[in-house]
Amino acid sequence: MVEGDDVPADHPRHDSLVTRHRIEAGVDAGITSKQGLIAEGRGEAFDYLLGERTLPSADDAARAAAAHLLLARHPVISVNGNAAALVPDELVALADAVGADLEVNLFNRTDERMQAIADHLREHGASEVKGLAADARIPGLSHDRATVDADGIADADVVLVPLEDGDRAAALADMGKVELVVDLNPLSRSAQVADVPIVDNILRAIPNVTDHARELADADRETLERIVADFDAEAALADAERAIRSGELA
Ligand code: ATP
Ligand code: MG
Repeated sequence: MVEGDDVPADHPRHDSLVTRHRIEAGVDAGITSKQGLIAEGRGEAFDYLLGERTLPSADDAARAAAAHLLLARHPVISVNGNAAALVPDELVALADAVGADLEVNLFNRTDERMQAIADHLREHGASEVKGLAADARIPGLSHDRATVDADGIADADVVLVPLEDGDRAAALADMGKVELVVDLNPLSRSAQVADVPIVDNILRAIPNVTDHARELADADRETLERIVADFDAEAALADAERAIRSGELA
């Protein structure tokens, strides 16, 4: 369960209400697009079906994601309008814990929103925010959606893409990058193409990855590589689907 935003801690739909309030505030602040509201609604439905909890299989995925980020030559965390509105402090903390870059990357790209999100992340403690140079492209996507930084996502070997659109997730995977996805819908293409799909609310998933990264900070490469090798993406997706179908809400 997540702190904050004046929602009573014992409210049965606590995390969904916190998520909803933060997205509304993000739209008011010019950080989140109106489309982001729709994406939020879809996520909320899946969080409801999962009982607003982190499944053990999602915790395993968060640990595998932490191991990937620690092993990476150049890890990058992609930030869109929903992620920035929901977990700015947590994204900065994760980037610090694993030495990753933060890069703003928008489906509905406008200069104003790019700038607003970069400023928002800096207000929450980010020292450097990428995405504004926009001097490289992801092959196979139309212009705006393909734009990335040459020394950011284009150069990354491991990318964490919370709430990514399915097309772009597939295009990044086709570039041979290790892709870590946070998505509450185990059937979404983003989750399906990920090397590590974390089927959990971003509110719970990002701090959880950070906790695992801190715990694994002194682990040797062999240990981290074993955690990566032992993770089974298909089994994690199947487990999330099973939990949804079982109807055992928490
Ligand atoms: P595709 O199948 O191409 O991946 P999509 O329908 O998933 O498409 P969008 O609606 O753009 O495309 O994606 C939004 C995704 O983000 C949904 O899968 C939704 O479940 C997920 N999502 C929304 N809010 C959250 C959240 N707070 N935490 C985790 N996932 C979320
Ligand atoms: Mg998706």
